[in-house]
Amino acid sequence: MQIGNQDIQQAFQLAHFLFPDRPTAIQIVIRSLDALEVAAQRQVKRLKHIGKRGKTKVLLGDVQLVQVLICLHADQYQRAQEMTERPFPPSEEQMLVRWFQQLALLSHANSFHATVGQCRILHRYSTSETRSVYETLMQSADRGKDDDQFRRAKSRLVHALVWRFGERVSLSPPGPRGEENFESMEPVEEPARAFARECQSRMAPWGVSAVRFPVDYRAELHEVKQLQSSPDDEDREIALELLRVHTVAHPSPFETLIRGLGMESPDSTLLLPRFSKLMNNDTDRTGPGFREPLELDSEEVAGIETITKTNRRGRAKLRPQVIRVRVNGAEMAQMQVHADEPASVRIPLNPGDTWIEVLGKEDLLVVLLALIFIERDDEGRPAPGKYEVQLGRNSTVKAEIAGNHIRVDYAAPQSTIKKIVGEAAEQVRELMDVGLPMPRATTLRLKISDVKPVQPSSEHFCPNCERVMKADGQAWRCKCGFYVRETA
Ligand SMILES: [Zn+2]
Repeated sequence: MQIGNQDIQQAFQLAHFLFPDRPTAIQIVIRSLDALEVAAQRQVKRLKHIGKRGKTKVLLGDVQLVQVLICLHADQYQRAQEMTERPFPPSEEQMLVRWFQQLALLSHANSFHATVGQCRILHRYSTSETRSVYETLMQSADRGKDDDQFRRAKSRLVHALVWRFGERVSLSPPGPRGEENFESMEPVEEPARAFARECQSRMAPWGVSAVRFPVDYRAELHEVKQLQSSPDDEDREIALELLRVHTVAHPSPFETLIRGLGMESPDSTLLLPRFSKLMNNDTDRTGPGFREPLELDSEEVAGIETITKTNRRGRAKLRPQVIRVRVNGAEMAQMQVHADEPASVRIPLNPGDTWIEVLGKEDLLVVLLALIFIERDDEGRPAPGKYEVQLGRNSTVKAEIAGNHIRVDYAAPQSTIKKIVGEAAEQVRELMDVGLPMPRATTLRLKISDVKPVQPSSEHFCPNCERVMKADGQAWRCKCGFYVRETA
């Protein structure tokens, strides 16, 4: 499926919801469309791991990929904003948006994790209630899981959220089985409930029509044929897994499902984290509250398309001297490109890791070459897979996930590689080859600085290339193609 004008508008609406600043939201759209072109899952050549019985996985189409990419890229601007408090400190409402966004990112590709996140973290359902929800979703008790699997899945989500939100959230003292829960708002009032539904509908997979439950649905009386597996039809299984994720992630089918099980309503079991007092949170300094932005106008769309095209050409022409690998936005490895051998690196993966970027650097130019989502099996282990992204000039990025590691190879025909020889470079490469991880927290702190939140609007620097933009009536225009209209 091609990305059309309506998809760009939808992408912008989501980007703006995640980061309510027009130039930054446009920048997030540009980076996501760029990444879409090199998303490995789009040009995929994968190991057979779908066919194995009982395994579930989601293959995303372009529209859903854009949605996930917007969430991933917005996350980088959000973290930079949380650290620098620029252009304004995040409001509590914005932190809530990020909470739903992270859960969506952690579970968008797996209906088991989506169920656990929805029932055990966003709502206070018990493990046995959650098990009924999952069995109903699968329309089969045989494919259910035991309580331990539910607990481990929850624990993985809790730790990933703690890793993301750090001191902004806190855990209450562990329960009888050592289970961890977040300190939550008490009680959750209606404006917050409505806002939670809003967040969830925006984060639920795009391009999926909601499952049609029978009228007066009762789980013990009705079968839901649409959710039933047909193990021999692989294509249908893939669409089905996406439908299942949608069914638990979107508030309206989820509510029908819960009602059908005779459980307490999602509204009255909703759990929202209590964010610790944010630094300097005087309301004068927090940015605008949530408001639907004006649609992109035709010139803004044209600007996005120009930049995407320029970047595509740059990628095809690039002769990288250095390949950089980033995991969840943090740089984990650099390798020098040599004429006589493919560059290769092996990196250990952590439980919270969701995406890998491979970047090429030529002189001062850094270009995204490949993007790989780390898919996870029901136990939260990285799903094994082989990926290949074809670039211009016959160069390729290959990646293989096996065990808890990812191996990334970059190869190009000799004539296209500039020879670089240097002992220091060799040493760096050797260090990386043994899979030595860099300390994550510090790397993140350093690297996040290259994602600059947009300057206060009085200065009008281009968020795409950082040149000063020219005023153009009620809008700002840059030589690189970036165009944003003024919105008061
Ligand atoms: Zn520019």
